[in-house]
Amino acid sequence: MNTNRLMKGKKGLIVGVANERSIGYGIAKSLYNAGATFAMSARRESVKKRLEVFSNEFNAKLYDLDLNNDEQLKQLNESIKNDFGTLDFIVHSVAFAPKSALKGRLIDTPRDAFNLAMETSVFSLIALINSLEGLLSNNASILSISYIGASRYVLNYNVMGLCKAALECASKYLAFELGSKGIRINVISAGPIRTLASSGISDFKNIMDASRNNSALNKDVSINEVGNSALYLLSELSSGVTGEIHFVDAGYNVSAITAKVIDKVIDKDID
Ligand code: NAD
Repeated sequence: MNTNRLMKGKKGLIVGVANERSIGYGIAKSLYNAGATFAMSARRESVKKRLEVFSNEFNAKLYDLDLNNDEQLKQLNESIKNDFGTLDFIVHSVAFAPKSALKGRLIDTPRDAFNLAMETSVFSLIALINSLEGLLSNNASILSISYIGASRYVLNYNVMGLCKAALECASKYLAFELGSKGIRINVISAGPIRTLASSGISDFKNIMDASRNNSALNKDVSINEVGNSALYLLSELSSGVTGEIHFVDAGYNVSAITAKVIDKVIDKDID
């Protein structure tokens, strides 16, 4: 599909590219191919070298940014003001919970793991917007990434399910707070994808298998597919859309009883 002028002249920030398997990387690629200019960020000095490859690929500025660090958020505002003046889009593709909180029972989640997960995965979106609000152009668009574990039980997703529920809810509140300026904010709820973050979830392979096998399209989704949907939500094509949770999951979220489930029941009956 030729989208190479869709984002021409648009300037943005993409937070959450760790490597070429990151959902943020898929989004960066779609935006770059559509003509956007953007900055990216590195959470730690130690990953900066690795990320320079991507900032070169996309001709993107690279900032230091730990979203849990207020000083760096302040510095980010200064850097964006100097380098871009204003921003037309922000991508928040960020989450974290300690591995120990992504297995076993939600009931056993330690307080510090819960707080860290919520701060990094939910408050970070609010803090990021707070830091950049004054630089957002009148029809800017903001995007974050969620998962179906926000609204339904997913084995081992535990505290991250609560984080995603809060992230989606925050997006709806923010849609109203920013809407008077014409600024939009949406969420993509992506199907399971093998990334650094998802490698922390126990039994992730089984989660992927179940999702694929019970999806309408009978497949996994790719970071490119998420990237292309992000392009729609970050461009003027979606100028009437805000506060939305948009599923990019091969139709898994509309499934209840699928052929696969029925096959399993029949197998059990025969046994
Ligand atoms: P990823 O590990 O590639 O990306 C996560 C990013 O979050 C990394 O770049 C990491 O540096 C960044 N991050 C963590 N803590 C941070 C902090 N304090 N400050 C700044 N950045 C920080 O994994 P991903 O799967 O691409 O995750 C991106 C988003 O997609 C997350 O919100 C994740 O929950 C969501 N998501 C992932 C899947 C999946 O199956 N992979 C499915 C649905 C939603």
